[in-house]
Amino acid sequence: MALRDMERDMAGCSRCSSCKWIPHSQVKSWRFASGCPSSTRHHFHAYSGSGKMIMGLSLLHGRSELNDGVAEIIYNCQLCGSCQVSCQVYRDDIDLSDVLLELRGKCVEDGFLILEHMEMLQSMKKEDNPLGMLKADRGRWAEGLDVPDIGQRQVEVLFHAGCRYSYDEDLRETLRETISLLSGSGVDIGIAGREEACCGGRAYELGYQGEMRNFADDMAGRVKASGAAILVTACSDCYYTFKYLYPKRGLDLGVEVLHVTELVGRMIKEGRIEPAGDVPMRVTYHDPCHLGRRGETYKAGWDGGDKLQRPVRFKQSGRMGVFDPPRDIIRALPGAELVEMERIREYSWCCGAGGGVLEAFPDFAAWTAADRLEEAAATGAEALVTACPWCVRIFRDTVTETGVEMKVYDVMELLSASLGGV
Ligand code: SF4
Ligand code: SF4
Repeated sequence: MALRDMERDMAGCSRCSSCKWIPHSQVKSWRFASGCPSSTRHHFHAYSGSGKMIMGLSLLHGRSELNDGVAEIIYNCQLCGSCQVSCQVYRDDIDLSDVLLELRGKCVEDGFLILEHMEMLQSMKKEDNPLGMLKADRGRWAEGLDVPDIGQRQVEVLFHAGCRYSYDEDLRETLRETISLLSGSGVDIGIAGREEACCGGRAYELGYQGEMRNFADDMAGRVKASGAAILVTACSDCYYTFKYLYPKRGLDLGVEVLHVTELVGRMIKEGRIEPAGDVPMRVTYHDPCHLGRRGETYKAGWDGGDKLQRPVRFKQSGRMGVFDPPRDIIRALPGAELVEMERIREYSWCCGAGGGVLEAFPDFAAWTAADRLEEAAATGAEALVTACPWCVRIFRDTVTETGVEMKVYDVMELLSASLGGV
């Protein structure tokens, strides 16, 4: 796909500006009515989803040229997908999210690059992760764990830790507890250890679309070698890559892909995991964009012409993402009380870390996270719970920087606490 393939979508934008807000029917207060972090922060229409649609059409028709200013606007976007969801409510005959991805691709093609993104890509190529860490250290998080490496034997479930969880020492314990819980509950689970590599989704989102292929092929090879029927990850970005980006590029991993909350939620329902210990806490849940609205399975492109005519199964509305399993886990915890924020599920506000914004525009990323923490505090919750290591990382860092009173947990941490693990 290229920008020209989205011409009808871009030309179809009616400039109604609905993509800047959550849908009107969902607005509960003016304070938390915004949906697009980029236009809310930067106060210009150009930063909104619509602004980028108009920009893309103008570039395609040669009415304007790509320059540093335009590229900076294109990169100042978390690719959170809120604009796509809101636009679909009013205009389900056009698509927006893929335009944002294709604009990134054009920036890279035309040489408008971001230094921090280039460094991430170099690290991915050299060390198989975008964090500048050593490949040799990838498997250290699992040292001493009683879990098979797929290099030793085949397994039913392959667990993909992802880059953030593999290298972030503050988060590692959660991952170790998760693996112990699953294998202790009878799941035949294995890991790839130091042989695991990045899923490659970051490269695609940063605009280096072709680079994802190598990582995807590598991933497919590991899945096949493992003999697994299910691929599980605890990272929402990896989940999105497996569910959306790989199929979009024609790659089928040939296994069921689950987020860890889907697997655990299923096991709780089956009585295979029984939370017992009290977690006396009032919590609110943050939907990670790439697990929620962007975690929706890729639906094949519509080649029937007018998108107004396309059946619902071809529409990427964001409603079929993973929203309930993490909430079900929280509700299963004795003593825990779940209170919801104003912007939830497919209308959630982004944590700020996505789309390469955390690395290239850290102030914008932190501002976005601070806005969400304010919304969480307004519920009266003492803790914000989420299901993505990137969200946990930025929220914890923002709590430290701002001094706001809010604990931040991955939902698997609370489950482990209930089971006596931590
Ligand atoms: S909501 Fe859709 S149609 Fe309306 S301005 Fe945004 S992109 Fe254009
Ligand atoms: S993806 Fe998110 S940040 Fe980017 S334009 Fe859309 S709503 Fe705004």
